[in-house]
Amino acid sequence: MKHRCDLLVILLPLLAAGLLFLLLRPSGAGQYVLVTVDGAEVGRYPLHEDRTVTIGEADYNILEIRDGSAAVTDANCGDHTCVRTGQIRRAGETIICLPHRLVVKIIGGGEGTVDAVSGGGIA
Ligand SMILES: [Zn+2]
Repeated sequence: MKHRCDLLVILLPLLAAGLLFLLLRPSGAGQYVLVTVDGAEVGRYPLHEDRTVTIGEADYNILEIRDGSAAVTDANCGDHTCVRTGQIRRAGETIICLPHRLVVKIIGGGEGTVDAVSGGGIA
């Protein structure tokens, strides 16, 4: 039964490689989370890297990037519209916090340029 073991030794790395291949090319790959306050960029983070960022100090928003989507999970603004917006994951989607003049936007894809016009109607 040694041959069965040999087969496993060959198959497992192949399976792992296949899994890795799938994991490394999610639809959100190459996209970024762009954070602006008052129209000025304060941060830009890869959408596919999990992290939690605190934006601001006295006026804060907690930005959480996880599993290829971004969300404001906490903030001390008055209306909490940004928190209620929930997760965004597609290019052009935004989370807006009016009291803090904060805009979180998904940008990117392979083209590398940001098309300000295609922002999708920030009203
Ligand atoms: Zn807010």
